[in-house]
Amino acid sequence: MTTPFQLLEARSSMLGEGMLIRRALPHRERRMIGAWCFLDHAGPVDVGNGSGMRVGPHPHIGLQTFSWLIEGEVLHRDSLGYEQLLLPGQVNLMTAGQGISHSEESPVQRSPKLQLAQLWIALPDHKRHMPPAFEHYPVLPRCAIGGYETTLLVGEFGPQTSPVQVFSPLLGVDLACTQAASGSIHLREDFEHGVMVLEGATQITVPGFPPQTLEAGKLLYLAPGCKEIGLSNTGAGRLLLLGGAPFEEDVLLWWNFVGRTRDEIAEATEAWNSHTAFGEVRGYVGDSLAAPSVPAEIKSSK
Ligand code: MN
Repeated sequence: MTTPFQLLEARSSMLGEGMLIRRALPHRERRMIGAWCFLDHAGPVDVGNGSGMRVGPHPHIGLQTFSWLIEGEVLHRDSLGYEQLLLPGQVNLMTAGQGISHSEESPVQRSPKLQLAQLWIALPDHKRHMPPAFEHYPVLPRCAIGGYETTLLVGEFGPQTSPVQVFSPLLGVDLACTQAASGSIHLREDFEHGVMVLEGATQITVPGFPPQTLEAGKLLYLAPGCKEIGLSNTGAGRLLLLGGAPFEEDVLLWWNFVGRTRDEIAEATEAWNSHTAFGEVRGYVGDSLAAPSVPAEIKSSK
């Protein structure tokens, strides 16, 4: 790479009826940031009328799903028997390990607006067959930097440590401002990073390069070696700062599965579609999602 950064644009798609999703990872030019291997920004969307968000039971292997709620409510149910309402400022972390299934839906009693970030974290090889687990984090460390209110989602940031349990060196920070804000953020040089703008427009300054203004849906990737970035908003905005040690393992990602070989992904697909693994999600009214057939070749993360 001639420059230490890369500007990427999320792809927009619709989930169900009228829910706009911006998918920033995986990107064809950037599959992962550390162990972060999937990043969807959903909404803000009006869920006051209609059925709201309804994602029927589906399985996962080899990853942790990380749900960061910005506005509204999401009801999680899984095959371990957890039923957890997720509220703004909270995180649901589901560790799939060897296999789990879950559903996500808007509860009947709900706010008119829904907005969340849905991320996946690839599990390292020595953890990817661990038993499944679910954890709800109702309170995360917060602080203020130059007019941004920060919420530490994962890892360490300044003097703070997130309680969210992950299995590789990782960082996740939400920064939000309601008016103009400007600050400088110290970065770990051994981490690669990504700054994803969720709302508003943020001017990002990488030392030695001209400032770049990113609008919602844009992600700036920063290679390891970057010590600091400057952030500036002229009005209300929100962004996500992600980071991690470059993930050395070659990862295959297909549908809701993260694996290492096509065979294990084909096996998981077969097991889900034939109902021979992944347990049962109780309480969700509606159909499960069917796994699509596995292509002859799955593109790797490298
Ligand atoms: Mn899921």
